[in-house]
Amino acid sequence: VIILGIETSCDETSAAILVDGTDLRSHVISSQIATHQKYGGVVPEIASREHSLHLQPVVQQALDEAKVGFSNLSAIAVTHGPGLVGSLLVGVSGAKAMAYAAGIPLLGINHLEGHIYANFLHHQDIEFPFLSLLVSGGHTHLILFEAHGQYQVLGQTRDDAAGEALDKVARTLGLGYPGGPQIQKVAQEGDAQAFKFPRAMLEPTSLDFSFSGMKSAVLNTLNSAHMRGETLRVPDLAASFQQAIVDVLVRKALMAIDQTGVKTLLLAGGVAANRLLRETLAQTLAERSVRLVSPPPLFCTDNGAMIAVAGYYHYLAGDYAPWTLNAVPGLGLV
Ligand code: ATP
Ligand code: MG
Ligand code: FE
Repeated sequence: VIILGIETSCDETSAAILVDGTDLRSHVISSQIATHQKYGGVVPEIASREHSLHLQPVVQQALDEAKVGFSNLSAIAVTHGPGLVGSLLVGVSGAKAMAYAAGIPLLGINHLEGHIYANFLHHQDIEFPFLSLLVSGGHTHLILFEAHGQYQVLGQTRDDAAGEALDKVARTLGLGYPGGPQIQKVAQEGDAQAFKFPRAMLEPTSLDFSFSGMKSAVLNTLNSAHMRGETLRVPDLAASFQQAIVDVLVRKALMAIDQTGVKTLLLAGGVAANRLLRETLAQTLAERSVRLVSPPPLFCTDNGAMIAVAGYYHYLAGDYAPWTLNAVPGLGLV
């Protein structure tokens, strides 16, 4: 089974060729970070224009590197949501045209499912049921998976996503976009105990998250220092905030493990690339004999390989998309 995976939901144009779910023959990621950096975040209109320019060459490069043509493909998998509508539309219309012309099935992939399925690329021995902690730029979810395509959201953020909070704090600290990697970098020179930021845990058994108050605590700390004419150490702020976010994520993951009795946790999403989060989870879960699976950092942030992996399982299930497949910007996990 040869799947071409296409991802264009945000600011990465990416394509990958995947054979039998595990053999990644090529993987091309064209990132627009440099383009959006000067605006401090992704500008949707520019993002869709960039996708239009890059989609065809990126797909061609993926085919060339894998030494396959459209006639060798079993199906084309494409992200159809959630994401920026203009960006999604470029990928969806492109994939439709290519699949229709090649006479092969089209697979409509939920981007969030893609993030989680990135784990199956390097680990085929993952056992159900498992929990997934999905931490990305737009989402923070705890999900219980019973089988492929069968899952239940146990908790999610009520306001900002973890990545969004990191990005916003980074911007305020003058660290640039995307903020998560910058916070991680600067935090290395900081003291994580320097500031006592709150850890929002909500109701005692809730698996929901709330990061906006934690983000505001950093901004308030900065503002009041500014009014006193003090300057605070940015590395200390970054390290303390990173620690606060990681503490909440780890505590909630442990609560979900205790509540469900599940023995495997799959980490996913851009924030899953965070070293402190990975190390803290690895240590805490090992103490409880719970298996932690996480994708290599490159496969945590947006990429076409994860869409191809999810596509592979949809293909096996015969879950093909209709030619009327549309972009769904607010697509959720049900
Ligand atoms: P979504 O997947 O929810 O639609 P998205 O696709 O924009 O949103 P991702 O690409 O999954 O998000 O992840 C991007 C997020 O990950 C950004 O918020 C970024 O700051 C964060 N991130 C990336 N690397 C790291 C890191 N090393 N530490 C912390 N955060 C990180
Ligand atoms: Mg991105
Ligand atoms: Fe994403």
